[in-house]
Amino acid sequence: MLTRYPIGLAATAVALAIAGRRLAYVFGLVSSGRPAPGRLTQKGRARLELEEVVEQRRLLRWRLPGVAHAFTFWGFCVLILTIIEAYGELFQRNFAIPGIGHAAVVGFAEDFFACAVLIAVFVFSVVRLRSSPKREGRASRFYGSNTAVAWITLGMIALVVVTLLVYRAAQTNTGDFPYGWWAFASHGLGRALRPLGVQANRTVATVFVDLNVVVVMAFLVLLVYTKHLHIFMAPLNIAYTRQPSRLGALDKTPEIDLETMDEETIFGAGRIDHFTWKQLLDLVTCTECGRCQSQCPAWSTGKSLSPKLLVMDLREELFRGTKQALVPNVVTDDVLWACTTCGACVEECPVDIEHVDAIIDMRRYEVLNEARFPPEAASMLRNVESRGDPWGLGASKRLEWTSGLDFEVPVVDGEIPDDVEYLFWVGCAGALDERARKTTQSIARLLHRAGVSFAVLGPAESCTGDPVRRLGNEYLFQVQAHRNIEALTSAGAHKLIASCPHCFNSLSKEYPALGGNFEVVHHSQLLDRLIAEGKLRPNRLDAKVAYHDPCYLGRHSQVYDPPRSVIAAVPGVSPVEMGRCRERSFCCGAGGARMWLEEQGTRINLERADEALATGADVVATGCPYCLIMLDDAVKVRGREEEVKILDVAQLFERSMEVPASR
Ligand code: SF4
Ligand code: SF4
Repeated sequence: MLTRYPIGLAATAVALAIAGRRLAYVFGLVSSGRPAPGRLTQKGRARLELEEVVEQRRLLRWRLPGVAHAFTFWGFCVLILTIIEAYGELFQRNFAIPGIGHAAVVGFAEDFFACAVLIAVFVFSVVRLRSSPKREGRASRFYGSNTAVAWITLGMIALVVVTLLVYRAAQTNTGDFPYGWWAFASHGLGRALRPLGVQANRTVATVFVDLNVVVVMAFLVLLVYTKHLHIFMAPLNIAYTRQPSRLGALDKTPEIDLETMDEETIFGAGRIDHFTWKQLLDLVTCTECGRCQSQCPAWSTGKSLSPKLLVMDLREELFRGTKQALVPNVVTDDVLWACTTCGACVEECPVDIEHVDAIIDMRRYEVLNEARFPPEAASMLRNVESRGDPWGLGASKRLEWTSGLDFEVPVVDGEIPDDVEYLFWVGCAGALDERARKTTQSIARLLHRAGVSFAVLGPAESCTGDPVRRLGNEYLFQVQAHRNIEALTSAGAHKLIASCPHCFNSLSKEYPALGGNFEVVHHSQLLDRLIAEGKLRPNRLDAKVAYHDPCYLGRHSQVYDPPRSVIAAVPGVSPVEMGRCRERSFCCGAGGARMWLEEQGTRINLERADEALATGADVVATGCPYCLIMLDDAVKVRGREEEVKILDVAQLFERSMEVPASR
């Protein structure tokens, strides 16, 4: 006994001192961040903890590593009991936890999870070997992660369990073990040790219980100095994640009041200490799992941006504490401007890291404080500012799309008449781009046929500001937003139809922060309802249709089913899904103002179009004018435009109505 507790307790004291100091340092770093308004008071934390920590829902989206991680997590929760027992054993050979220490179910659970954790370690090892960066290069989700530390950690986990099982096995031969045969692994291993005799088993138990405590403590120190800090940080980061959604509206809508601003005013984040404490907490929570990297369209097409590497670089800067300019010292221009804000990284991250907000904060600083942005974006910014649309075509062109219709579209002049239910927000692309105008006309004809009364703002409509906001020009966004809110409010608009998911997102989720509260529906949602009510009846259209989820309709707004229902409502259509669909849809490359920026390497729209073409579909349907333009361009580059049509769901549906009904 005398040899037991000095070693165990000395190891514990040293480890707790080191780990405690480190944790205090990390908490100091995180709390040095700027305030994160609302994060400490928001509701729904218990549900998030239940779903994402206890149930491991997000991790389980990746079946094999998810199950292995879930068993490791649950295993360590149960194995806390064995740590209590090990400390008890240091002082009393036949220690049992008071009350439950002899219960068969406890003995079984401990042994079951000890074995499960060992199996999980094996699974993790296979996963890491199979997707090793050496084998797969950039395609590996572990590319750029600290793989050596990951291997050491797996070794430590195995060591914790092995030392545990050996001391328990030895105890089964000394009469000190508190559990019967339900502790199957301990007893099974104990049989192998039985020939050593009681005295030798006692020595083995002493050595291995000490070893177990020492390994657990060494593991604790390893955790707080590596990416495995996430064991402590993830539950916190999840508790303070943005609600109700980490996507959709951007996080902060800063007060931009030119009267109160001076040269010292900081927009966004130009140095590491400009981030909020939640954004710094994000950095120390990253597990380097690479799930975000594997889904990032920029990284997948050979660009420098990886959301994982971005977070790791920022974390390094946090620990360095140099407070240098982030761009280009920590984050290069190539990385910063490559993001399409598609949200795939945020959607995938198992510990709720909010990459998009951090990227936009860095863009805000570059644009507003440094007046730096890709030169090709200048004309888009100028056009929005002076002409109200990214192409600079001007308000006078906004009604041209109506000329192809055989009915009158009411244009609001003053207040919307009482007998008009909806204000149709056409959007810049829908009003001004040749291809997107066809979608707008289809939507208008379908609404007209279904008897839905609607009007448009026409020249009074202006860019919602989505592209300028995503580019980092928060000031211009707010100017646009206020102008539109004013136009909508003075028109008495309450119910809006948006055909562009970017407009849909800004109008419904970003304008409320600036005082504009409207009920906004995407046209696919409204068409779905009209079809269900029998107000629109399709005819047969034989076609194989693949649906492309636009990022701002899907991940950012959770509208996945209505467009699919519109497609499925057409008799004769056989819908097919692309490999990457719904939450995992692959971006078209236009979001985040990327539509107006030069693209390096493989074009994202080509990669997506290739995926769509591989399905053998006759029609690729979508619900966004930008996706439509990008995919249409890509199909033309591939020379397949004659065989495969890129259509909005509204166009597809309308085409079926043009087919004569069969008898
Ligand atoms: S938002 Fe999309 S493009 Fe940007 S870092 Fe995340 S996954 Fe990559
Ligand atoms: S940011 Fe999230 S998904 Fe990406 S590597 Fe870190 S923990 Fe994994």
